[in-house]
Amino acid sequence: MTPAVLPFSEAQRSDAPVPLIDLVEQYESIKGEIHEAVDRVFSRQSFVLGEEVSRFETNVAKHCDARHAIGCGSGTDALVLSLMALDIGPGDEVITTPFTFFATASCIVRVGATPVFVDIDPETFNLDPAAVEAAVTPRTKAIMPVHLFGQCADMTPLWRTSVRHGLAIIEDACQSIGASYNQRRCGVLGTVACFSFFPTKNLGGAGDGGMIATDDADLAARLKRLRVHGDAGRYEHVEVGLCSRLDALQAAVLDVKLKYLDQWAEARQTNAARYHAGLRQLGATSAMDLPLTRPQCGHVFNQYCIRVHDGQRDAVMQHLKEKQVGSAIYYPKPLHVQKCFANLGYKMGDFPQSEKASAEIMALPIYAELGEARQHRVIESLASAVGAGERNRTLSFPKTERRAA
Ligand SMILES: *Cc1c(COP(=O)(O)O)cnc(C)c1O
Repeated sequence: MTPAVLPFSEAQRSDAPVPLIDLVEQYESIKGEIHEAVDRVFSRQSFVLGEEVSRFETNVAKHCDARHAIGCGSGTDALVLSLMALDIGPGDEVITTPFTFFATASCIVRVGATPVFVDIDPETFNLDPAAVEAAVTPRTKAIMPVHLFGQCADMTPLWRTSVRHGLAIIEDACQSIGASYNQRRCGVLGTVACFSFFPTKNLGGAGDGGMIATDDADLAARLKRLRVHGDAGRYEHVEVGLCSRLDALQAAVLDVKLKYLDQWAEARQTNAARYHAGLRQLGATSAMDLPLTRPQCGHVFNQYCIRVHDGQRDAVMQHLKEKQVGSAIYYPKPLHVQKCFANLGYKMGDFPQSEKASAEIMALPIYAELGEARQHRVIESLASAVGAGERNRTLSFPKTERRAA
């Protein structure tokens, strides 16, 4: 029998700086395989699309149980291509969240359509489904839920809204490959789903890359055409598309990393569980909210974001900085008050939950290789920042727990 908790030994303490994210250790652990994959691509001198990309597309489709997966240049392009393939353009509205990375909304503007923002559920930072239903107009063509930080949006009520009004669902799954909702992975939770392989995402390449997953064969065929200038084959251009293809080098590297994705997600879940246990044991949780995982969700923690109460967030971040512990704000300014969207007519006060989240949120290191010693430092630093905890207290971390409460 293994004990339920593993006492944290003095030997495991670390004084080393803890960056918010460190990609080097992960690379070192699979260096041989990565170099083999890169060498293979150079030997063949086939750099764009081709066999490497097809194999990776098949493996991503298999991983999320989708019928089709189409590689492209970035997560941003995946969103633009999806909107184009669904014939969404001028005069059309797409309902989405203002509390997300910029690209979610900019892609809607890029195709000439109008983003319609609605507020978020404060517990998960994801779209509030009731607000989505209330925002539907005769011009609404689609809903674009973001599975923020690695947890899926609340899809069941969104499906009801989509069916009731005949709307497409475009999953912005750029932060959430591998995340699940009622045992199904994102990628098959809407009409199309968009993934990003930006280097700092859970499945990160050696540069930009993206993928679109769908079960719809017609959409898949159109997406394949749209990523190569609308070329239906032999320079027959049936429509004007983009130039947005996935590189063979990226596909070869990503296909190596895909094999480890689930294991890395489990390590992130273990880290999340340790934060929960450690911060509670040090009595730090009265000053903050820890991320909540809905029971129907499998959270992959692309980010681990806490909320700091009472306007203390910036002071806490400063304290962590002094202790050489990395942290960051995702996102400091919601999209409805970004200058480039001023013409949409929103103002501060329109989405109080998104605005409050922007003022309180901060992300902590959660990468798979973090390890107990460095995590202990983060926990102690955070506890001391909020005036909790005793120095050098021994923490008991859950040993086998995979999911944060
Ligand atoms: C990263 C990200 C994107 C864009 O992906 P890129 O590959 O950087 O273009 C879009 N939406 C969300 C929510 C993201 O986190």
